[in-house]
Amino acid sequence: MIVETSNLNLYYGSFQALKNIDLSVKENLITGIIGPSGCGKSTLLRVFNRMNDLIRGIKITGGVLVDSEDIHSPVCDLILLRKKVGMVFQRPNAFPLSIFDNIAYGPRIWSITDKKTLRDIVERSLTAVDLFDVLKNRLKESALSLSAEKQQRLCIARLLAVEPEILLMDEPCSSLDPIATGKIEELMLELKRKYTIIIVTHNMQQAARIADEVGFMLLGELIEFNSAKKIFTNPSDKRTFDYISGRFG
Ligand code: ADP
Repeated sequence: MIVETSNLNLYYGSFQALKNIDLSVKENLITGIIGPSGCGKSTLLRVFNRMNDLIRGIKITGGVLVDSEDIHSPVCDLILLRKKVGMVFQRPNAFPLSIFDNIAYGPRIWSITDKKTLRDIVERSLTAVDLFDVLKNRLKESALSLSAEKQQRLCIARLLAVEPEILLMDEPCSSLDPIATGKIEELMLELKRKYTIIIVTHNMQQAARIADEVGFMLLGELIEFNSAKKIFTNPSDKRTFDYISGRFG
């Protein structure tokens, strides 16, 4: 298991947003987290690279292991954790910099300054998201001039530039049209050969198309975790069945 939680609870002040979550994520699979709005999907995703740390009044109990390391241990290196576990957001968050500088941003933080090395990293990262051929003559242009889909690819390439292991994706297609969504989904299926992907989506069809394993959440609980096939054809829990058959949510 590359990510494991045991008896994980998370409180925003007195409100409990995650309740006793036991989740095991396998390497090189796409794990989908589904459930109605407000059930705690994004909160859970943000636990895995400690993005919730910045929120005041937050309290987390229980265990969270990434690569068998306790990420809440005082010796956990947060910068290394965020390098290992990158995050893609709902709206592409390309920086107002050139395409090249967006990709080189992370490596530069890691003190890589050699021009040739940076060029190689930019080429390799853009190639991995199928953008290098299209953009190789436009690397100095602003990343913000790209379409939303290309910006989202660029944001994924920016993560790949620092050689992560796990990609967290929080509704990564919610601002994209169906054609662009299909392209990002194809990209995810390619990326899972090298990376582990955990995707939050309220789009059940998307989870059915791309996820290997799926967790269904409701009111802060992980109700069921199973193969995507089982969740969408023969779920074990009646609440999962009611949700996937559109009775609520
Ligand atoms: P989802 O991603 O499933 O829509 P969230 O994880 O965003 O759900 O939210 C889960 C619950 O936690 C919701 O009730 C939401 O209002 C609450 N919540 C989320 N973020 C915060 C926060 N920063 N402070 C207080 N409550 C929050």
